[in-house]
Amino acid sequence: MCIRGQALIDGQFVDALSERSFASVSPIDGATLTQVADCGPEDVDLAVAAARRAFADGRWAKRAPAERKTVLCRLAELVRAHRDELALLETLDMGKPISDSTSIDVRAVANCFAWYGEAIDKIYDEIAPTPSDTLALVTREPLGVVAAVVPWNFPMLMASWKVAPALATGNSVVLKPSEKSSLTAIRLAELALEAGVPQGVFNVVTGWGPDTGQALGRHMDVDGLFFTGSTQVGRHYMQYAAQSNLKKIGLELGGKSPNIILSSYRDIRHAAETSANSAFFNQGEMCTCPSRLIVEESVHDEVVEVLVARSKAFVPGHPLDPATQFGAMVDESHTTRVMEFVAVAEADGARLAIGGRRVCEESGGCFIEPTIFDEVRNDMRIAQEEVFGPMLSVIPVKDVDEAIHVANDSPFGLASSIWTDDLSTAHRASRELRAGLTYVNCYDCDDMTVPFGGFKESGIGRDKSLHALDKYTELKTTWIRLGQ
Ligand code: NAP
Ligand code: MG
Repeated sequence: MCIRGQALIDGQFVDALSERSFASVSPIDGATLTQVADCGPEDVDLAVAAARRAFADGRWAKRAPAERKTVLCRLAELVRAHRDELALLETLDMGKPISDSTSIDVRAVANCFAWYGEAIDKIYDEIAPTPSDTLALVTREPLGVVAAVVPWNFPMLMASWKVAPALATGNSVVLKPSEKSSLTAIRLAELALEAGVPQGVFNVVTGWGPDTGQALGRHMDVDGLFFTGSTQVGRHYMQYAAQSNLKKIGLELGGKSPNIILSSYRDIRHAAETSANSAFFNQGEMCTCPSRLIVEESVHDEVVEVLVARSKAFVPGHPLDPATQFGAMVDESHTTRVMEFVAVAEADGARLAIGGRRVCEESGGCFIEPTIFDEVRNDMRIAQEEVFGPMLSVIPVKDVDEAIHVANDSPFGLASSIWTDDLSTAHRASRELRAGLTYVNCYDCDDMTVPFGGFKESGIGRDKSLHALDKYTELKTTWIRLGQ
């Protein structure tokens, strides 16, 4: 397999103009996979100019929606046809189990392109109910040049959630993947060319956030910038926009999601097992990770016992072994950061129930055991800060009111959940939980048809579903005077 590390600008693979590059390192064993172009502001200028030319001449934006559909559905098919290659690249680059890359990430990417492709020729614009001597059309127009900056936890999928609706609505795109996981973004854009997305319409600039990302954020000719990543960096993008051309901004940010288990749920074992599965999925590197388990005191001991037992099923293993369910952390620096939380939690008085160690160090890779802290108070750092690793905090509460209060006592508001068979409690809690997503008696539901995003400091705007199209379009009103 040839692993490409060049940027893709105007349909051509190119090195950075400075000729600088950085190593793409696999967290499985520390091996260098390839060198990746370290794009600076001058490369970003080229990519934005290519995207602008492509938008201005209408080679994509003015195609009939049905034609864009055909191309996007062809891209979905190409992603499916290259499933094993894309999954291998993703796993080598960021360490998630190959079974997940294959059955979850690549499949979801193909579905995402197919879904927006299929949608785009079925959406009508509006005629407003104005007086009869006028006609007012309300149409959706593409923004123009859209930049997308994405993280590394689902590298290709987070990119697709932005690129697919942006392309479907006729925009040109410049994508900046995370420096930790650039490889599938490059390959995806190459497949898009093969599918028939014209040159210059989908560009990829690789590089570091403070350089390449900031250059996009401050660019005067980028019309919209859509970001997925941490809340801290999301703030930077608002500043970049404010200090440049007031480009439209969308932010999908961090979380510290509460997961409430009440004694009124009939199957405590099932609730606890699902909670552990969801907390340790993708090594806990999940924006929606249910990292605060808020449990009613009367079922606390049973819940912790099941959690601890279930966590033992997540044995850190070689990510390329098809049997592995729990892979490597993305890289050395993130591993160090996550491990620091063990000491932080213990110093604050949390009790380590299981885990807390870095393991398999002889492999040269980045592996951490699933870790559970009990007797956590919500004001501890382990309960307030996003760890973005396999660390679960158990917070005992006396009843549902305290549970909802604790759940909402966080700057974040991405996901939340509640387990109860009491219908009124479920309805009330799901209304009162201040989060973009609330799961009742589940945690693992997912579908392209539903919006995804957060309240509070978890973000602005929504990915997925038809609602995401609002981000990539401007509403335009056209008045027409009829007759005299
Ligand atoms: P991150 O550090 O915020 O990085 C995200 C992107 O921003 C990367 O491409 C990064 O580039 C870039 N960046 C970093 N510093 C920057 C700066 N000063 N200026 C401009 N760009 C900068 O986040 P991450 O560690 O990659 O991802 C984890 C975070 O993403 C978590 O907080 C998680 O909750 C969040 N997330 C949210 C969602 C959601 O839908 N709400 C989904 C997935 C993940 P480089 O790292 O390459 O330098
Ligand atoms: Mg990597």
